Amino acid sequence: MTDLWTSEEIAQATGGVASAPFAVSGVAFDSREVTGGDLFVAMKGEATDGHRFVDKAFGQGAAGAIVSQTIAQPHVLVPDSAAALEALGRTSRARMQGKVVGVTGSVGKTGTKEALFHALDRVCPGEVHRSVKSYNNHVGVPLSLSRMPRESAFGVFEMGMNHAGELAALTRQVRPHVAIVTAIAPAHIEFFGTEEKIAEAKAEIFEGLEPGGTAVIPYDSPHVATLYAKAEKHAARILTFGFDPQADVRARETVPAAGGGTLVTAALPGVELCFTVGAPGEHWVSNALAVLATVEALGGDLAAAGLALAEMPGLPGRGQRSVLPVEGGEALLIDESYNANPLSMAATLKQLGREQADRRIAVLGGMRELGDRSRELHAGLVEPLTAGQVDYAVLVGEEMDPLAQALGGVMAFDHVPDAARAIDLIRNEMRAGDAILVKGSNGIGLSRLVAALQEAK
Ligand code: ATP
Ligand code: MG
Repeated sequence: MTDLWTSEEIAQATGGVASAPFAVSGVAFDSREVTGGDLFVAMKGEATDGHRFVDKAFGQGAAGAIVSQTIAQPHVLVPDSAAALEALGRTSRARMQGKVVGVTGSVGKTGTKEALFHALDRVCPGEVHRSVKSYNNHVGVPLSLSRMPRESAFGVFEMGMNHAGELAALTRQVRPHVAIVTAIAPAHIEFFGTEEKIAEAKAEIFEGLEPGGTAVIPYDSPHVATLYAKAEKHAARILTFGFDPQADVRARETVPAAGGGTLVTAALPGVELCFTVGAPGEHWVSNALAVLATVEALGGDLAAAGLALAEMPGLPGRGQRSVLPVEGGEALLIDESYNANPLSMAATLKQLGREQADRRIAVLGGMRELGDRSRELHAGLVEPLTAGQVDYAVLVGEEMDPLAQALGGVMAFDHVPDAARAIDLIRNEMRAGDAILVKGSNGIGLSRLVAALQEAK
């Protein structure tokens, strides 16, 4: 295998000076993530200075470092490590001959990125590279770019933002051939004020499209016109996806499939395709349509991509299902503990309403970063809870105060201060035949509840 980077290439890309020749097979800026052969990028953050962790990184097997102050180990010295990482990312993108996809949206970026990775991996004999986790910001994107093997046939990059202008900068680094907007929702609305402004900021992703590129946009979104108008300026082709009969890639019929997935009959330009989406819920069907639109734009084998979607299970924290043995039978646990905003709450509660269950329980933590609209949007969860036929709700944390007030008399519920209390409550309460949805913003810590319930298995 060829090296990912040689010290000479790093020096050339960053304008830095190499202390000695070395070669690396990976890149990391978090010393805890360094594995053998990696390049460690020592960054100066607000809270910590990566230079303090240089010894640790080399102790874990780093083969070289990018630093802005001299160290004893092999390194490339640069004036600014963050700028150097960005330069490395740009060089990586420039030397890559394959096709690149950028994924943004208020929700569904990681899910869509992972599903697309599996689909392309199935379709393509060559190497498919993707960003890991949700590495989607001004550091995560250049890091993910710099990790891309030069011979990759495809690169799939998650791109996020919480301020206008951020995506415009990221997309010029990624230079996608296909740019996807998954969905628009009031996430990070505290920084934007309106959903329309969020849509405008997400549409910045199209500014970096390569000539001849394709924009993939959600037809069912109330903001489709905004996205379309921006896409028209930069894309050679626009593919819309959704449930609406007007969408270019549309789900014509959906039927529940075994194991919680969905059997979908979809229409694409010129073909009809039947496939199963392994992960449960309409929102995953929507993500799957975006994946197929992208495969179509890239000229890939749609049938093979459809097969890969069947094997897509829910991801930890994002819809992963597990069966818990309880006295007299089993309960179903749906782990959505990683993330929550009004759109994803509505999508997953709707799915809960479709589960075969004797009783539906929703353990809900707060939705963060909603700013001025937080109280109103939390109180607004009454409707999705009712639509999801929830029998009993456990509300966690003080963000849930407005919902607790609004729920009085509507359904049985308890309101607890933190995840630890919710663990006790659910352990006592859980019965055979229950379907339990656990959902909240990551910071609420509901993943601890999920882990505790799974441990007791
Ligand atoms: P982050 O900004 O935190 O990286 P993300 O955009 O990557 O988030 P995912 O992690 O893919 O989002 O999904 C988060 C949650 O949003 C999922 O657990 C699911 O509840 C919901 N979700 C996923 N896709 C959609 C969709 N298309 N529409 C509505 N909700 C969705
Ligand atoms: Mg993500």
